[in-house]
Amino acid sequence: MALSDYINTFGQHMLKQHGERVHKIALDAGMTCPNRDGAKGRGGCTFCNNASFSPNGHTPPTLAEQIASGKRAIGNRTRAPSFLAYFQAYTNTYADVAQLAALYDEALAEPDMIGLSIGTRPDCVPAAVLDLLAEYRQRGLVVWLELGLQSAFDETLKRVNRGHGLREYEKAVVAARMRGIPVCTHLIVGLPGETEHHYHASLDTVLALGTDGLKIHPLHVVKNTLLAFEWRRGEYQPLGMSDYIRITADLIERTPPDIVYHRVTGTAPKDILLAPSWCSQKWNVLNGIELELRRRGHRQGEFAEPLAGREEVLYAA
Ligand code: SF4
Repeated sequence: MALSDYINTFGQHMLKQHGERVHKIALDAGMTCPNRDGAKGRGGCTFCNNASFSPNGHTPPTLAEQIASGKRAIGNRTRAPSFLAYFQAYTNTYADVAQLAALYDEALAEPDMIGLSIGTRPDCVPAAVLDLLAEYRQRGLVVWLELGLQSAFDETLKRVNRGHGLREYEKAVVAARMRGIPVCTHLIVGLPGETEHHYHASLDTVLALGTDGLKIHPLHVVKNTLLAFEWRRGEYQPLGMSDYIRITADLIERTPPDIVYHRVTGTAPKDILLAPSWCSQKWNVLNGIELELRRRGHRQGEFAEPLAGREEVLYAA
């Protein structure tokens, strides 16, 4: 058995849709973030050191170089013949729409690039950008909009200095899905002040508003962040691995089976990760979630609410 026997994984979803393996290549387009440059706030989210998801620091190589090295790394592991350009670092809709189109087109010019996955903040997706993404969809390309919500609780979002609330997410997810753009919502398990009640309630809110994909990961404490100070002062206690595995399995059981799980854990580079140390061992966590679901004999959707009351899933391609 594999994780995909229990979860509707992104890999399996793409295999079913396209008849072949499709992998995301994570890209750093040298963007910034309105929560760092002053437009929405300064200093960023209390947990954000962008190096934790940007291995290139912030003077990235060209997109072509990143794509070539991504293909080499993925090719060595999986021999995937097709790829999505995953604009991951910072806020990848935070620029003039013509500049964004040029960036996305540059990545799509690669012959085996079949689409885009665009990571951004919910308060940073104006209509013009959504129209641009909808155009790519109409041209037959795969498009995912990845919205970082992290928690559906405004109190928590304020505490971690997100600079947006649930209302902005709600507007963004409705506007994107109205245009037929599938949304992958990012949630964090282990945010300061939150308990299991919050994780389940955030999932319920996101499902009620309608989403097509989910990405869940544990909160990492990384160097050069406000969260690191809080952790050192004993004001923040990270989750243990067994708690994370149990909670994530609970959330998966309550997620309808048609929702695509893009990720159920996350890692941070060892050189900046402070805690919890198990976050650097992605495969241990993935194996743990698989074992837990196997032990329970449950798959994704085992305890999902019926479709009534949940927005129709728009994504069909
Ligand atoms: S919105 Fe994203 S890039 Fe911006 S500060 Fe927060 S985590 Fe970092």
